[in-house]
Amino acid sequence: MKAGHLAKTAAGLLARVLHILIPRCCLACQAPVWTDHLGLGLCGGCAAGLRPWPDDGCAVCQRPLSAADTPPTYRCSACRLKPPPYNRCLAAWSYESPLDSVLQAYKFRGLRYLGEPLGRLAALRLGAQLENIDLVVPVPLHWHRRLARGFDQAEILSRAVAKTLRLPCQKALRRRRHTRAQSLLTKTERRQNLTGAFTLCSPAVCPGRHVLLVDDVLTTGATLETAARAIQRAKPLSLTVLSIARTPAADQVCDGHHQIPKRDTRCA
Ligand SMILES: [Zn+2]
Ligand SMILES: [Zn+2]
Repeated sequence: MKAGHLAKTAAGLLARVLHILIPRCCLACQAPVWTDHLGLGLCGGCAAGLRPWPDDGCAVCQRPLSAADTPPTYRCSACRLKPPPYNRCLAAWSYESPLDSVLQAYKFRGLRYLGEPLGRLAALRLGAQLENIDLVVPVPLHWHRRLARGFDQAEILSRAVAKTLRLPCQKALRRRRHTRAQSLLTKTERRQNLTGAFTLCSPAVCPGRHVLLVDDVLTTGATLETAARAIQRAKPLSLTVLSIARTPAADQVCDGHHQIPKRDTRCA
């Protein structure tokens, strides 16, 4: 056995022993975690509180509809007036407690190991809606930020989604320029910030494929929309965008009427 492998095995054993002796704290409520069934660093109570994103919203953008009893193919007025650059927008969970703590720990505290279970669980949750997909593509980070963080969060999530669905994962996009952190900007500034941010680096992989574009969190959707426009230039058969979590803002609620209402209810 090589020395490096031996050291890795010993470190793994030590980590396991320490984990048994000193339980980790739940990432959301700080209670001791004796058994982390999901692998997300949550206690049983918090793990049970993950809130799935409702799947009865608009057929394209999946924003919840204000009216009930709409058919599953119903598209909200915003999607009919100005179709987004993708066929469907899916999210596994709502971005609220306890998942916000998990994603923040993943991105900002360097807990890289959370990426695999997040991607796998999201793929399992949405599996039935992903049956036609044949290629998974991550929304890339700029290399500056990747260097600072030590990893690309969407790439790890994408690889876990692809592995769970037994699909190829390809880095078809490149972040052309370093953009400011989206969370610090207004909606208009977010769109300006992203202009020309993505470029296709592997256009040959997308034509004739049903592509799934993966990111961690969807807030206004500006990042995923900009990345989706870049993918559309490669003419995929269809494009689905997927975020692990999506912000449950009040303005996410759309109309549910078959006629476009006089009052502007667009929620883009
Ligand atoms: Zn907890
Ligand atoms: Zn819509």
